[in-house]
Amino acid sequence: MDKFVCIPTNQGTGTTETCLCSLCYENLENIGYARNLAVKTNDIDPYGDFVDCTGNDALNCCVCGKNADGIYIFHTDPGHGWLEVTRAECTRLGILDKISHYSYQRGDKVYLEEDCDAALWANAKKAAGEEFTFDEQHLDETPIRDYQSFGLDI
Ligand SMILES: [Zn+2]
Repeated sequence: MDKFVCIPTNQGTGTTETCLCSLCYENLENIGYARNLAVKTNDIDPYGDFVDCTGNDALNCCVCGKNADGIYIFHTDPGHGWLEVTRAECTRLGILDKISHYSYQRGDKVYLEEDCDAALWANAKKAAGEEFTFDEQHLDETPIRDYQSFGLDI
């Protein structure tokens, strides 16, 4: 299992806003990104210490979106599929400006449509030597189709 860290809330609860996997935590830019997300909250100290939160499966790395088991969520409905990743990871992989408007976005999450954009992401991950697996979540009516089409502006 991957190691994860995060800045807990003042009450000591783990936070997905500042959660980083061990790989992402190695990069100062990612730590800055997590601290910036903490600034937008009321209960996370952006200058707080990162503590070990390995094994808390409610948390996803805020940069790469990976959960505690190293698994990304692949959402499907009866017609199509979308891979849930984060904007920060697409930026880090250098593919953000190559994602089509057939994908969707919501907050810091990007839902890559399966035909082209998810493959673009998977190829970039492989090129970076990063391992990944998927966990499929099927819904007959997914809310993803109601999200905003992907664009470089949020
Ligand atoms: Zn990560």
